[in-house]
Amino acid sequence: MDISKLTIKEARKLLDTKKISVKELVEEYLKNIEDKNKELNVFLEVYDDVLKQAEEAQKIIDEGGALELTGIPLAVKDNILIKGRKASAASKMLQNYQATYTATAVQKLIDQKAVFMGRTNMDEFAMGSSTENSSFGVTKNPYDISRVAGGSSGGSATAVASNMALGALGSDTGGSIREPASFCGVVGLKPTYGSVSRYGLMAMGSSLDVIGPISKTVTDNEIIFNAIKGRDKMDSTSIPHSDFVSTSPNLGEVKKIKIGVPYHILNQEGISNEVKKNFDTSVERMKKLGFEIKDIKLPNMDKSLAVYYIIMPAEVSSNMARYDGIKYGLSLEAENLLDVYKKTRGEGFGREVRRRIILGAYILSSGYYDAYYSKAMMVRKIIQDEFKEAFKGVDVIFTPTTPSPAWKIGEKTSPLENYLADIFTVTANIAGIPAISLPSGYVKISDNESELPLGVQLMSSHKNEDVLFKIGKKFLNEN
Ligand code: GLN
Repeated sequence: MDISKLTIKEARKLLDTKKISVKELVEEYLKNIEDKNKELNVFLEVYDDVLKQAEEAQKIIDEGGALELTGIPLAVKDNILIKGRKASAASKMLQNYQATYTATAVQKLIDQKAVFMGRTNMDEFAMGSSTENSSFGVTKNPYDISRVAGGSSGGSATAVASNMALGALGSDTGGSIREPASFCGVVGLKPTYGSVSRYGLMAMGSSLDVIGPISKTVTDNEIIFNAIKGRDKMDSTSIPHSDFVSTSPNLGEVKKIKIGVPYHILNQEGISNEVKKNFDTSVERMKKLGFEIKDIKLPNMDKSLAVYYIIMPAEVSSNMARYDGIKYGLSLEAENLLDVYKKTRGEGFGREVRRRIILGAYILSSGYYDAYYSKAMMVRKIIQDEFKEAFKGVDVIFTPTTPSPAWKIGEKTSPLENYLADIFTVTANIAGIPAISLPSGYVKISDNESELPLGVQLMSSHKNEDVLFKIGKKFLNEN
């Protein structure tokens, strides 16, 4: 077995049966990083104590106390805090910032003695869908280095796809786990809002943000999700572990699982033919596996993008207020306090972050608040109700993950073009429901181009990640 290309499940077996040591495993992945990181720009930092972490994990295994992730090499998105380590959110504002506490999700993995390889590149403060908004260069797609890896968790998705880690943490506010997972041919889960504590995740849109796993298989994804989920007293929106009770029929009864397809949303403009074809093939595959497919209507799903691009910048503008040149990170000298704020924020934030702060401040300003923010909140409620209704008739809702495969670096010149890439993903954040992106094969855009991965998305009702895992495993032929 090639140990440089393992899944978590395979690695667990090899470690537990002592066929390999944690050190051997970790050294393979460090070698993969050394071979490819320069070209792909995945890790902003590879930690210097990886071998020490490996030694500690080995001790636990030798003492017979191994848990599912003990000794497993993982990567972490650069907006999730680990005490004493740098966390920059790929922003010049936090270039040298050192975390003063550890995110709960990370702590749970540290408690299992997982090995953290390093922190991964992303769009600045998670705002974007290609990592082109990183202050430290774009992450390249492992299938075609002239293309983007997706974003904002592009580094985490590429780390898994190119065997630099066996799994990774990302964050998803409007698609940032699922979109890069689909562009890189891996599995990405945006869990139910509140299922994973946000303590230690740098806030972007607080009513939308969630930490989630990226992995090669659905089985691995479930392992990481189970390790990080649960109630945390540091995040009042977090949900207790015991609340996650599956209401879906078990897989022995595949025929009873109903998959809803909102065919009407596929007729929107801007969805590439490759995506449509790939999605049709995926629906056929679901049918062959024995699932019942139902055509459903979600009349307001097409408003999600507009709602997202009101609510998200409103929350961004208030969350970004803390970076004032005094409390955290960058602080530039100036004549007076106001100029310190202006200079630090003007130079510390990149264009996209500044654009969203301005947009959000405008949306929340008196006179416009009702016209934009209040209205968006009303439509959000309508969309939430529409999904609740839909889940009375079907177990999951099936769509493509993205309207196109990975685009060429620099190809999208206007912000709006980038925003449209989120058309299928933002809805799950608006509704707070879980959604998973599954790799669904490869497409060739033209004869002289490389094959590019595509993904499909399954959404389910609140706290019902279980059904996503069940169907996902069937779809990807996992046992
Ligand atoms: N691409 C979306 C945006 O730019 C989503 C970002 C995210 O999920 N963090 O806002």
